[in-house]
Amino acid sequence: MLEQGLDIESQLCPLILAVDEGIQLWDSSGRKRFMNPATLQQFGEKVAAAAISYEEMAALCCDEMGQAIPPHLFPVAQALTGATVASDMLVQLQAPVSDCRWLRLSARPLIPQGATAAVGILSSSIDVTHLFEYSQQLHRQANFDVLTGLPNRLFFADRIKLAIAHAQRNNKLLAVCMLDLDGFKPVNDHLGHDAGDLLLKEIAHRLESEMRGEDTVARLGGDEFALILGEVKSPIMVEQFLQRLLDVIARPHLIHDQPVRVGASIGVTLYPTDAVEADQLLRFADQAMYKAKDGGKGRYHFFNSAAELRNKANQVLLQRIDAALTSNQFLLYYQPKVDCRSGVVVGMEALVRWHHPILGLRSPAEFLPLIEHDNIIVRLGEWVINTVLAQLVKWREVGAVIQVSVNVSARQFIHGGLEQRLGELLANYPPEICSQLELELVETAALEDITAVRQVMARYQKRGVKFALDDFGTGYSSLVHLKRLAVDVLKIDQTFIRDMVEDPGDLAIVQGVIGLASAFGLKVVAEGVESIDQTLLLLRLGCDVMQGYAISRPMPVDRVGEWLQDFHPDPRWQLAGGSYPQRGDFELLLMEVFHHHWLEKLRVAVVEGGEPPDCNHDNCRFSQWYSDSGIRRYGAFPLFRQLDEVHRQVHKQALRLLESLAVLPRDEVDFHAVEKANQLLIAQLSEFRKMQSGIF
Ligand code: C2E
Ligand code: CA
Ligand code: CA
Repeated sequence: MLEQGLDIESQLCPLILAVDEGIQLWDSSGRKRFMNPATLQQFGEKVAAAAISYEEMAALCCDEMGQAIPPHLFPVAQALTGATVASDMLVQLQAPVSDCRWLRLSARPLIPQGATAAVGILSSSIDVTHLFEYSQQLHRQANFDVLTGLPNRLFFADRIKLAIAHAQRNNKLLAVCMLDLDGFKPVNDHLGHDAGDLLLKEIAHRLESEMRGEDTVARLGGDEFALILGEVKSPIMVEQFLQRLLDVIARPHLIHDQPVRVGASIGVTLYPTDAVEADQLLRFADQAMYKAKDGGKGRYHFFNSAAELRNKANQVLLQRIDAALTSNQFLLYYQPKVDCRSGVVVGMEALVRWHHPILGLRSPAEFLPLIEHDNIIVRLGEWVINTVLAQLVKWREVGAVIQVSVNVSARQFIHGGLEQRLGELLANYPPEICSQLELELVETAALEDITAVRQVMARYQKRGVKFALDDFGTGYSSLVHLKRLAVDVLKIDQTFIRDMVEDPGDLAIVQGVIGLASAFGLKVVAEGVESIDQTLLLLRLGCDVMQGYAISRPMPVDRVGEWLQDFHPDPRWQLAGGSYPQRGDFELLLMEVFHHHWLEKLRVAVVEGGEPPDCNHDNCRFSQWYSDSGIRRYGAFPLFRQLDEVHRQVHKQALRLLESLAVLPRDEVDFHAVEKANQLLIAQLSEFRKMQSGIF
């Protein structure tokens, strides 16, 4: 019926022949029945053939991406399936039909009244090229960077969301990168903005040419770019890619015939390892980019979620410490300093503690490192000084005049306005209290800004405040520094004290610091003194004031009074003798200490089990010293020559002891013989040493 009914052009309205829109009529098998002249103009002569099918027409079209259109998606095909609504499609005519015309196609079935099946299809094609290009232009302006043509921030934000959705569906990693050029500003400044623009275009071009289909590169503004790398199999793959990118960017650019070099710093973050939200990923990538800059530029840096977590935890802890300060959770312990030669307590060191409501007493090592670079340490430091000053007043009221030293952090000294704050704190106290205060500054901090430190010191030394260099020997003070700093006290660092009995290097440092202090007329304090050996050795070396577990552990303030009352000098301190040794006798002293220590180790091995020290005479440090510098220096003295035999006896007894230890139970082994031999050796050594220094 349709075939006859549509018989043919003459019956159709002349309008159809005149309009700009293409109009087509197809039969129910999808073959052309009619096309108006506009259609021929749009699609070209190819469609003029008498019985062309809609498939052939579809083959002339492509979609926005330039992809061929599957015939079954063509609107005519859709209408043939009975779709009653007109289906619409925007197509591009493929060359050589035209250089990019955009058509909007639609089609609908023709179903005569009363019938159920379509007798044909009516379709139309409207040229919307102008409209399409206009909307494209609007889209470009909104979504692309004008200078480089790369996607802009807006478009990138869209892309990253799509990429996340894609990665999530396919269970893939995604890398988001921020890239900032290094050394772009000088190009702009020295060669002009034109050159800067050219360079940016060139960089954009190089970046784009390195990207794969699933990647995106955008310019966010200035010299900042962002990348999304999709389908990431491993972080290593990202690293390789970024290294290549860095190399590509670093190759010289020719701008206005001049070679120009720039680099880039790239921050990287991974989805879903680091974050799953787009804005978080961007923020992390940005943070990582700054790390790359800080790390020396021209590199990439992966955002580290573990470090970030730690940072966050620290932030929380900082707040807690701040709150603890406000709610009085800090307290001071005091550790005595004693002059072991005279047996007099000369002062106390105030050491801060945090009484945590749940965790209990925390030592400074657990919280000071966290606040070292924060202003909280300045507040805490002021609290300590204030508390100590108030305590000095209380002690004075009960007749105890004690010198107290306070540790001052580098930040407090240099950036904390200590010079002024100390003045304000001291203003509330009488001069005699101020002169009981000593400030301990670690050597390394003092060296950070000698001029500033000197100023503070000079001002308050006038008011009686003393200054000590703490942990002395661990920094790099030269003699010139020591002279310029003009401190009152040197505190020998406890690491040297700990090992000086065994390590001649440490002993030499201790001896050196003591010598230095005496040369500069400074007091010297040994800290971390844990044993009687150390005490005696220090006394013999000429260091009298000591602080350490051998005397007392730090104690809470309410125990100080009792401790002071109960304090008695250890009678063994007298063993050190009344006079300081000569330099030459130092080695004799060292051997005394060494052999004493060796015997102690042997005793521990016998009593408690475990590895005994080397008992072979030839391997003993004493033997080596004796046959070398000992004999050279003291060989002329018969008393010294006797020492060799006494020493051999000690080792003979020791070897015998080891033999019996191998066959007898430990408690049946006789330690007495070796002990007696060793006592004789030490007594003779000591006698010889005293003879050498003229003490009898
Ligand atoms: P420091 O000034 O060198 O204080 C000596 C540290 O050695 C103290 O540790 C003390 O308890 C410990 N000590 C004392 N005698 C011995 C000993 O015989 N053997 C051993 N192994 N250790 C001994 P503490 O109280 O844990 O303080 C550690 C560090 O924290 C101090 O080292 C000081 O640098 C800092 N500090 C303590 N209180 C404050 C304060 O109020 N302000 C500031 N800025 N720092 C403080
Ligand atoms: Ca100290
Ligand atoms: Ca110290």
